[in-house]
Amino acid sequence: MDLKSFEMEGGDVDFEKKRELVENLPEIGPEETFCFDCNPAVPCFNRCCAELTLPLTPYDVMRLCRNQKLSGTDFETMYVDSHVFPDTGFPMPTLRMSREPGEPCPFVSPAGCMVYEDRPSACRTYPLGRGTKVGRDGVAERFFIVREDHCHGFDAGTIRTPAEWFEGQGLAPYNRSNDRYMRLMAMVRATGSPLDDRLAAMARLSLFHLDQFRLMIDKMRIFSHVAISEERKNLIVENSLEGDTACLDFAFDWMELIIFGKAESLEHS
Ligand code: SF4
Ligand code: SF4
Repeated sequence: MDLKSFEMEGGDVDFEKKRELVENLPEIGPEETFCFDCNPAVPCFNRCCAELTLPLTPYDVMRLCRNQKLSGTDFETMYVDSHVFPDTGFPMPTLRMSREPGEPCPFVSPAGCMVYEDRPSACRTYPLGRGTKVGRDGVAERFFIVREDHCHGFDAGTIRTPAEWFEGQGLAPYNRSNDRYMRLMAMVRATGSPLDDRLAAMARLSLFHLDQFRLMIDKMRIFSHVAISEERKNLIVENSLEGDTACLDFAFDWMELIIFGKAESLEHS
């Protein structure tokens, strides 16, 4: 089983297996270091970009949609296998591997990753694992080392702490958004029952189809029903990475509001 996709917690059988695997991996403390480099000179270059069950978070999908200039619907049709977390009812899409021999990632080329600037969280995190626990005081992190036989990145390389690796991989905005998704799912899990069909459909639309969510905001005049600043409204409808990030943040607030009647940074007006 590949281990590139361990980061998300999940309820699906495959994800459960991955979580168990990750929990049994060697842990690395936040101040500890590891030696690793990955570049086109390694003999295993691109070996880890095939036959993956690669989960995509809402932030991953947003970045890949921007990269490919695709709507959420077209991206889903072309690149996604749909799954659902059974305990929460939230969507858990995975990146569909190509049907070619060896099942390569649809974005891998002989020169490397074709969506490198917008590659998913799991690709950035590897060869580390990040386990998260959502508590009252925020998100507690634990790190694991994923050392697979085929990976020669550990043979020689730069010595870093997990935080230095994450910084180099540009993971901060990914983890911020993914942790929000984890927190929302943890809140729903704590209720003891998954989302009903209507809320599950709304989660899919608002978190993974930002273009449709923006249309819905307009059609349902959502801004007139919530207390929200003009500055935030303008950013949410802006066609930019910052705009899409703000729109996704608003989608998390929106889901929290319609599920629980209140949200972290949003109120009924
Ligand atoms: S998205 Fe890029 S880094 Fe991730 S598996 Fe595909 S080719 Fe590899
Ligand atoms: S060094 Fe590891 S992460 Fe890099 S291409 Fe090889 S298998 Fe993948």
